[in-house]
Order: sequence, then C-alpha cells, then structure tokens
Amino acid sequence: MTFEAIVEECRARLARPPGEVAATWKAEHPGGRAIGCFPVYTPLELIHAAGALPLAVAGGGTTVELTHADSRFQSFVCSIAKTTLELGFQGRLAGLDGVLFHSICDVARNLSSVMRRNFPDLFVEYLHLPQNTASEAAVDYLEAEYRRLLARLEGLVGHPVTDDDLARSILAHNWRRGLLRRLYAFRAQAPHLLSLAECALLTRAAGAMPVESYGPLLEAALVALGAREGRLKDRVRVVVEGAFCEQPPLGLLEVIEEAGCYVLDDDLMTGWRWFTEDVPVDGAPLRALAEAYRDRSEYSSIRHDWRKPKAQGLLEKVRRAGADAVLFLPAKFCEPALFDYVLYREALEREGIPHLVVEFEEKQWTFERTRNEIETFVESLLFD
Ligand code: SF4
Repeated sequence: MTFEAIVEECRARLARPPGEVAATWKAEHPGGRAIGCFPVYTPLELIHAAGALPLAVAGGGTTVELTHADSRFQSFVCSIAKTTLELGFQGRLAGLDGVLFHSICDVARNLSSVMRRNFPDLFVEYLHLPQNTASEAAVDYLEAEYRRLLARLEGLVGHPVTDDDLARSILAHNWRRGLLRRLYAFRAQAPHLLSLAECALLTRAAGAMPVESYGPLLEAALVALGAREGRLKDRVRVVVEGAFCEQPPLGLLEVIEEAGCYVLDDDLMTGWRWFTEDVPVDGAPLRALAEAYRDRSEYSSIRHDWRKPKAQGLLEKVRRAGADAVLFLPAKFCEPALFDYVLYREALEREGIPHLVVEFEEKQWTFERTRNEIETFVESLLFD
C-alpha cells in the first residue's frame, strides 16, 4: 500500500460516525461493547482490557448540522460539545454502548450530565482526574479512580478484568503510542515529507479503529514514508499549540503550510498520544497507569502539574523541535486553551519567540482571512 493510499484509508475511516464504526465492529465481535471517549486523555487500556472497543467521540466537524443541541447549551460554548451532543440526537452514536468523559473543563462536565439525561440507556461515566498531580496523594487517588471505572466497565461487559488483561492492553497501547512518537519524530526531522494534514489524518485514525488494526496500518505508513522524497523549502518552522481537544478543520491545517510554515510539532489529538514514554508493565497495572499519568504525561492545558509549569513545557518543545515560532490554535470558546494562552504568551515574549493566534471552529469553510494572517506573519519572519 502506498503512503498516499494509507492516508486515504484513514480519511475514509474518519468519515464514518463513531456509532457506525462501533456497529460494524460489534457485528464482527458478537457480545462486544464499544465505548466513546471524549477528549482529551482517556485510559484506553481499561476499556480495551475489558474486551471493549474504545473510539474517539470528538464532535462532528463539518458533517453535522445543529438542530437540537443548540437548545441544550449556551451560545458561548465550544463547538465540539454541541456537535457531539447533536451526533447523539441524530442517532450517529447509536452503536456505542457508552461514552466516557473526564474533568478537563466545565463544558465537558456539563456535557456528560446532559448526555446522561438525554440518553438514559447510554452508559455515561465521568472520570475525575487529579487536579493537583504534584500532591503525594495523586497516584493513590487516581489508582482508586481507575479501579472504580474498571468496576463499572466490568459491570457493563459482564466479566472481571484481570491484571494480565490490563498488562496486555498497556503493551498494545504502548506499541500504538510508540509508533505515533516515531511518526512525530519523522516529521520533526523531515516536515517537507509529511504534511500537517497527513499527520493529523494518520493520528486521528487511532480513534476510529481497533489498536490491533491501527498498529499495522501505521507501521506500513512509517515504512512508506521512509521512501518518500522531496526538497526542503524556505519556510518558517513552527510548533502548533492549543488544539488539544476540539480538532481544527483539515482545510485550516492545509492553509498553515500553504501560507509558508512547516509544522514540526503539535498537540493535536494529544490524548491519544499522551505518554512521553512507555507505561511499565512489570508492576500493578492500574498503579503503573496512575504513576505514568503523574510522571510521564505530556504537559497540557487540561492537566495541572505545579512541579513543571506548562509554559516551560512549551518552551522546551519549541527548543527541542528547533522551531522559529509558535502558532497558537485555540478552539473558539475553549477556556483551558485561552486561559493558558496568557501564560504561554508571557513566556514566549520573554524568550523572544514570535507567535500568532489563530482561533478556529470545527465548522469553518473559508480560510482566506486566516491564510492572509499567516502569510503576513511568515513574511514578517522571513524578511525581517
Ligand atoms: S474545546 Fe475546550 S472548552 Fe470545549 S470541551 Fe474541549 S477543553 Fe472544554
């Protein structure tokens, strides 16, 4: 399979709503359960170990027209919350047995309650991630929270989940995350051979298929990428930050590069990549996952770690990538991203690293204004 064919395969898979993907998988796995995972980070291993299929439920992008969801939310709420709910009203989550939310922001918290109230037959769970990961109690607390969630999943699937099941699932997801780290490392070295949109499609596909079939697809993509050739152009090398939950339209990602940038790193779909290293499998698995959340997580606007400020994480990312600038890409009305922008801006200005803010919405069709803004930014850097 060529690299281009693999990317198209990912695009086709992502065009199917999660409910349809779940229904197809369940037809092939009688008695199986499928669980939707709202961004950002979900302990997928728990769902996988229970024999269920975790799928990303991350809004409807440009494919869904709001007809009911608007009446359940205020107008100043991010798009992903509304389109996710709308997918439910339109029956496009119908193959899913449940949806998992967690404590990333007030909107996600409210969405979980609204989903529970509007879809009483759906298994809706809300995971409380620790708000102070520097606390001594954070790991004990999170391990207990994972145990509570696992018990709920065991109730749903109707059988117990052993430590061996969990260890196998950790290994499977270590493998997937390791492949994604390789994909990102490749792009950081050769951004002219892997575009931002291609990388996003390959990464997003992780949320649309079982890990057992995603891994080989990504392995094939990495092999095919190795044979790609191209010439490096004179462009501004940037890091994209702020799009960790609602995902930007592909058209916007294409415009960023067409306007003269190479993207060396980003936080798109960060929850499906999350750990900076493999989660160990030589101890108690839930404990290992909780410790990894504390000690091996990517910095993120939805995770608070007083031991290492997020702005320091961004500066390190910029330096590691050898980037010239940062494109800050928050979803409209995304409070965690917009609050953190203040911290990021302060740090970037202090270090003399240029940045540009480009707000986006899932449902965005024209990008000409954005193109002009980015082109002006690029010219100001290239011809300074
Ligand atoms: S886009 Fe931002 S505000 Fe909306 S659900 Fe995600 S984290 Fe919360």
